[in-house]
Amino acid sequence: MRIVVDLNRCQGYAQCVFLAHEVFRLSGEEALTYEPNPDDERRLQVQRAAAACPVQAIVIDRLDGAERGGTS
Ligand code: SF4
Repeated sequence: MRIVVDLNRCQGYAQCVFLAHEVFRLSGEEALTYEPNPDDERRLQVQRAAAACPVQAIVIDRLDGAERGGTS
């Protein structure tokens, strides 16, 4: 699966880190880092993290035109 975090939106609330700490990490005060291609077995965790984000900064499997038709 693929995820994108809009780091301009992210306020460092760390809800995502709490819910999916293998995928999201906070380094320092507000600098979020994340794994952009987490295993599918983490999907539920990531979906919960995305739902919990107060500013909806986490986007899962966004189907941009460039990605359509991909199989991965
Ligand atoms: S829950 Fe949202 S605002 Fe908070 S650190 Fe994660 S992406 Fe950023």
